[in-house]
Amino acid sequence: MTPYVVGNWKMHGQGASLPTISAIADAAAETPHVDIALCLPATLIHRAAAAAPTLAIGGQDCHAETEGAHTGAVSAAMLRDAGASLVILGHSECRAAGDTDAQIARKITAAQAAGLDVILCVGETDRGGDTTDVVVAQLRASLPPGAGSLTIAYEPVWAIGQGITPAPRDVATIAAAVRREASDARILYGGSITADTAAAMVDHGNVDGLLVGKASLSADSFTAIVEAVN
Ligand code: 13P
Repeated sequence: MTPYVVGNWKMHGQGASLPTISAIADAAAETPHVDIALCLPATLIHRAAAAAPTLAIGGQDCHAETEGAHTGAVSAAMLRDAGASLVILGHSECRAAGDTDAQIARKITAAQAAGLDVILCVGETDRGGDTTDVVVAQLRASLPPGAGSLTIAYEPVWAIGQGITPAPRDVATIAAAVRREASDARILYGGSITADTAAAMVDHGNVDGLLVGKASLSADSFTAIVEAVN
């Protein structure tokens, strides 16, 4: 399967970041054997899609409704209208801010109805517990019945932004459990990935690619990760 590397810029990036986005688009065009996407703040999506029309651009969350009295919220249809082709849902930072599994399931349905590809994030909070059980329970609760094919990102919360990663063989165990639940899903690993850890995680972690936070903010470090899995 073609490796898939997705950057999650979180709450980073303004207009001054457009050259970085263009540089990532150029690198993506030169690396046809890796699928690449960048999930940006909603305020940047339209400009990024115009500046880098060949790059897959995504949002980082959406509301479950198409429109309505939801001050501050952005719908899946709005992301699509702005130029997004995918969206991350259920990121642990959104779960920590109150997103429930049931809400995430509704968001997945809404995003797929709007024509967006979905990256559903799951992952345990604490290191060393019954990780497989936690992840499988999260997956069962947040995948809506009849969900179309999607990407599932395993992101152990304790590894995100901490400069530590689980052993690839431990990720492989979780990935196998995820595959049993959603056999046609693409599976990503996310949490403190750098160019130094990228290749081993894809080679030995039984995953199809990576969801990259901090190291996706610079074209050099993101491109180095893409090259590592190429
Ligand atoms: P870091 O790569 O900064 O740890 O972030 C991972 C993440 O949360 C991607 O969604």
